Amino acid sequence: MSAPCSYRSHQRTVDHRVPTADHRGGGRRGNRAADTALSGYWVEARGRYLRVVFAVQVWIERGREAAGRCRVRRMLVRSGPHPVLAELTAQIAARPDRYALFSDFDGTLVEIAERPEEVMVPVDLAANLGRVRQMLGGALGIITGRPLRQVEEYIGAAGLEASGLHGIEFNFPLTAGGSPATREAPHDLIAEVVKIVAAEPGFRLENKGAILTVHFRQVPAAGGRLRAALEEIIDRLKLDHHLKDGRAVIEIIPNGTSKGTALAEFMRRTPYAGRVPVMMGDDKADEDAFAVAQEAGGFGLKVAGEHFRSGDEPFRHAGEVRDFIAALAAHSR
Ligand SMILES: [Mg+2]
Repeated sequence: MSAPCSYRSHQRTVDHRVPTADHRGGGRRGNRAADTALSGYWVEARGRYLRVVFAVQVWIERGREAAGRCRVRRMLVRSGPHPVLAELTAQIAARPDRYALFSDFDGTLVEIAERPEEVMVPVDLAANLGRVRQMLGGALGIITGRPLRQVEEYIGAAGLEASGLHGIEFNFPLTAGGSPATREAPHDLIAEVVKIVAAEPGFRLENKGAILTVHFRQVPAAGGRLRAALEEIIDRLKLDHHLKDGRAVIEIIPNGTSKGTALAEFMRRTPYAGRVPVMMGDDKADEDAFAVAQEAGGFGLKVAGEHFRSGDEPFRHAGEVRDFIAALAAHSR
C-alpha cells in the first residue's frame, strides 16, 4: 500500500522499519528510553511540512505504521545549536574582520510560505541583521531568487547589500561598472508558460521580469510533468535559458547568472574581498553559491528542508538561522 503521508525527522532521520545502530539497543523495537527522547514529528502532506509537537506515544504511531497508513520517522532531539554553529559564532565574534556572511532569504531567513507574498518576517530580523552587518564591517550580503524590491520591503531597514533574481539584480554598482540590464523574459516564452499553467489549476506563474517561476506546491506530484514541459519549450524556442529546481517551484533563468555568480561579484568588492565567505541556504540554487564560497576558501551552511534532508544540516529550520543571527548580533553590542 502506498503511504499517504510520511513523517520527516527534525535533526536525523531514522526509519523504524530499518534496524540501525541508533535503535538496536537491546533489540527492543519499543525502546522506551529512546522513545522519550522524541519531541515531535515533521509531517509531510501534499509537499508541505508541518511540525507536530510530540503529544502521542510512539507506539500509537507504530500502530498506524503497521496498519500501512503512514511512514513514521522519528525526531531525535538536539538541544541548542549545532556544534559547528557554536564554534563559528565564537570565531566570528573573535575575528569579525575575517568573515563575510551571505544568506538566502526564503527558507533560510524566513520559513517558506504557500505564496511568496504570504511570508512571515519576524519584527526583529532586520534589526539583528543590521547589527551583524555592523559587526562584520558591512560584509553581510543577501543572495536571493526574489526580485530585490521584495526583499528590501521585508528587511530593507537593515541596510544590507543584496543580489536578487539569481544574480541578475544588485543594489550596488558592479565592479565591471554599471548594473546588468534586467532582461524581460521573451514574450513567446511567457505565452507558452501561461498555456501550461492555465491547463493545471494547481500551477501558479510568478513573473519576476527576467525570471519566470512556476509554483507547484499545491500539486507536488505534477513537478516532473511540469519540468518536462518547460524543458520542451526551452528546446523548441531555442532560448538562452535554463531551469532551476527549487522547493516546489521551477524557475526559468537566463543563462550565465546564478547565486554563484552573485557571490563571486560580492567577493570582488570591499569589504568582502579577502575574507572567508560563509553562505547560508536551503535550496538547490544555493549550491552554486556554496561552490563559489568553497573555491574562495569558505563554505556553505545548509538549512534542512525539502531539498537538504541528510539529517545533519547545521540548521534544522529557518528559526535556527535567525537564532544564529541573533547570537551574532548579541556580540555586536
Ligand atoms: Mg531558499
